[in-house]
Amino acid sequence: MAALAATFSLVGGPTHAAALTTAGVGWKLTTQLGVTSASPSKTYTITFATETLRKRYTPLLGPAVAQVNAAGLHLKLGGVEPVNPAKCGPAYHVQITELYRPLGRAGFSQGMPCPNPPKGLGIGGIVAYDSEYWTGYPIATYKLRNTVVHEPLHVLGLDHPNADLNRDGKLADYECVATSYGNTPIMCSPNGGYKTTATMGKLTGYDTNGLRALLANARAQGIR
Ligand SMILES: [Zn+2]
Repeated sequence: MAALAATFSLVGGPTHAAALTTAGVGWKLTTQLGVTSASPSKTYTITFATETLRKRYTPLLGPAVAQVNAAGLHLKLGGVEPVNPAKCGPAYHVQITELYRPLGRAGFSQGMPCPNPPKGLGIGGIVAYDSEYWTGYPIATYKLRNTVVHEPLHVLGLDHPNADLNRDGKLADYECVATSYGNTPIMCSPNGGYKTTATMGKLTGYDTNGLRALLANARAQGIR
């Protein structure tokens, strides 16, 4: 605390850039889209493009939403509203829709925050799940459940925490820190998270640490 106060007095005034932490073990924030924090007070609301999607995804997101709230963010499951995948919706909405191969790759979904929000404070964004998951695309149940949660976490400001663990100069697919049980962060690319029926679709401790960092960065900037 004393060191922090000294730093403030050296640079002076409330307008200087607060020291932000944007990566840690098993988590990384979406700095390339300018999101470094999440609101400690506002409620983020997940909305759906259609009633069919609301019914489909609400039960799959429920356990993760509870964990996000336990980590300190306010996130709730909401109703139906129009979603334009090319345009950010109302502030603090996490809008969910489906598209056929939104990234042009079979089996890949997309989630991204509205880019470059003021002060780096995430204001929501858009998820486009690959619609082919529901039309026979071969995907393990745990991978589907983890993907469904992975994408909205991108919207909240979490990036892939893949790290060059084998020091070959590349960030490889699935190259992520893991627990002693072999569980990688749910934000690992192209997917990660728990694999059992009871735990799939839940955040790991790595992921919740990332959420806490988003809140800590907000507070470091005086965002309440
Ligand atoms: Zn991802």
